[in-house]
Amino acid sequence: MPAEKTDAVVIRLADFSESSKVVTLFTRDFGKVAALAKGAKRLKSSFEAALDLLAECRVVFLRRSSSGLDLLTESQLISRFRPNSRNLSSLYHGYYLAELLDGLTEDYDPHPTLYDAAVSTLGLLSGEGDSRLALVKFELTLLREIGHLPDFEECVVCGRPIALGDTARLWVSQGGLICSGCGRPQYEHTEVEAETVAVLRRLTCGSDEAWQRLSVSQRQFRELRGLLNSQVSHILERRPRMLKYLSF
Ligand SMILES: [Zn+2]
Repeated sequence: MPAEKTDAVVIRLADFSESSKVVTLFTRDFGKVAALAKGAKRLKSSFEAALDLLAECRVVFLRRSSSGLDLLTESQLISRFRPNSRNLSSLYHGYYLAELLDGLTEDYDPHPTLYDAAVSTLGLLSGEGDSRLALVKFELTLLREIGHLPDFEECVVCGRPIALGDTARLWVSQGGLICSGCGRPQYEHTEVEAETVAVLRRLTCGSDEAWQRLSVSQRQFRELRGLLNSQVSHILERRPRMLKYLSF
């Protein structure tokens, strides 16, 4: 069994026995990995109490050649997730991020860009800023990385750009927006005004941090959530469990 070393964020923890845990890691170099952490529940273990939900750690694990759990042998804490103590929703936003990484990525499918986005989003959730936009930005990065980012440029039916003053809707199964002229009233819950489409474009293009200064109204947040909730639930084939704890 080869020993692998990488950085990882803990996205799920489950008790396995009196002393052991099964830990699901989103690793930078290997993607999602589920591993058995033997003795993790003992006070003195080789994991240095690093196995907290959403903690970033440097880990060493033994990869199984056949199906079954990998074996975690070392875990060293890089940083613990410290949600803003005055804002409970930043904690829930963190849990939601973990649920998305667990549900929407595959084992051993590495996405270093997504890993870096997860780590920087967890950092933003710990700060004083508005964590809602950080979460939306993360979801858009995730959707792009897994190949499910909707096309925000033009109508998927007629091909015209979404014009100022128009209200578009997301056609989830077609992965794009439809203009008001092309109808589809059944997607009413994913209505986004052209100004919100412009926000989506700003959030999905460019790697700079200018998006953090975007001013987003309450109505636009509602529209962004409606669209993302539909898209994420469509790919996940259910509504994320943490969704009901997200207040917007
Ligand atoms: Zn159209």
